[in-house]
Amino acid sequence: MNQIKSPFIKDRLFCPGPVEIPLQFRTPALSSSIYHRSEMFYELFLECRKLLSPIFGSKDGPLILTSSGTGAMESAITNFTSPQDQILVVNGGKFGERWGKIASAYQCQVEELKLNWGTSLTQEMLLNFVKKFPQAKAIYLQSHETSTGVLYELEKLIPTIRSTFSGLIIVDAISSLCAHPMKMDEWGIDIVIGGSQKGFAIPPGLSFIALSEKALQNFSNRPRFYFDLRKEKKEQDEGSSAFTPAISLVQQLYTSLKQIHQTGLEKYFSHHQLLGDAVRAAASGLGLELFPEKPISNILTAMKIPMQIDGSKVVRHLRTQHGIIMAGGQDQLKGKIIRFSQLGYIDQIELIGALGALELTLKKLHHPFELGSGIKEALKIFNQNH
Ligand SMILES: *Cc1c(COP(=O)(O)O)cnc(C)c1O
Repeated sequence: MNQIKSPFIKDRLFCPGPVEIPLQFRTPALSSSIYHRSEMFYELFLECRKLLSPIFGSKDGPLILTSSGTGAMESAITNFTSPQDQILVVNGGKFGERWGKIASAYQCQVEELKLNWGTSLTQEMLLNFVKKFPQAKAIYLQSHETSTGVLYELEKLIPTIRSTFSGLIIVDAISSLCAHPMKMDEWGIDIVIGGSQKGFAIPPGLSFIALSEKALQNFSNRPRFYFDLRKEKKEQDEGSSAFTPAISLVQQLYTSLKQIHQTGLEKYFSHHQLLGDAVRAAASGLGLELFPEKPISNILTAMKIPMQIDGSKVVRHLRTQHGIIMAGGQDQLKGKIIRFSQLGYIDQIELIGALGALELTLKKLHHPFELGSGIKEALKIFNQNH
């Protein structure tokens, strides 16, 4: 670290996790210690599980695990499959690909529905896919493919396959929870996964996994230890956990969940919709095409960077010159897109600031447009909702 950081630049996170954390969600981690084998902690833990339920749309409180989101994904493979089981994966990007990698590591026989990055998943595609593999044990997919910004319309997709497909349906909703609705019981999903550093706006380190009645009756016999959800379920129903949980993160989670409930989930959805609308309008004002096909999420806006500009330079310039931390493209999209995230503790004025930084950056890199033409469109959106 020999680079001297300018004292006149504030760092701000506009990436899809970790996200900007409000101060009032940070401070609970500094409060007095609690022992995790105590009534006080059991109450807190049970309350968190209860408050998580409506965000997942599940009757039963999701389990809280100490790991990043991928840990819960791995547990969804190890607890519900055995070696040689055939499982299905929707691979529409980096995160869909991850399902396949985890399942292969655990010797499942993986069948993939491979989508071109950025294309949406239709009811017909999904239905044809599951019909080809009637023996499959489970299907694993995302609700939002964070590497491309494509939202899968689960409220239509899942009911379409539910009557045909008898296996478990498992959804990684890590980036979409709190930004888009999730109604796992109503839509017929068996397992839904979340993570603390996305819409919940607390630091990374906790993952969540909600299990349907059907999931609870379909545990596999595969050997496992740390992520044994049978053991966790038994412990967590008493407010305890199999091992030491990340206590301070649970304290932070409680503060965040209380705020979500006091504010109302609907308001979180409309907030993300408004910010998403503003960024999309700004992109159009700047002459930047959106990368994904519709439906586009309100979680992040993936914009194509014109061919003559290297997208990684945009990301670097935004970070070093303006303190705006944004994600670029991964793998085949490296240098080709930027992912402007609207997730976490971001307000309208900051969003305008980040768009201003983007405009200055694009000017610097010789993209032809009139300065202010993106911001102007975003302001119009905010003005209509004023
Ligand atoms: C962030 C994210 C993950 C989890 O990644 P971790 O780094 O393990 O927390 C998984 N799936 C999606 C769709 C994500 O956006």
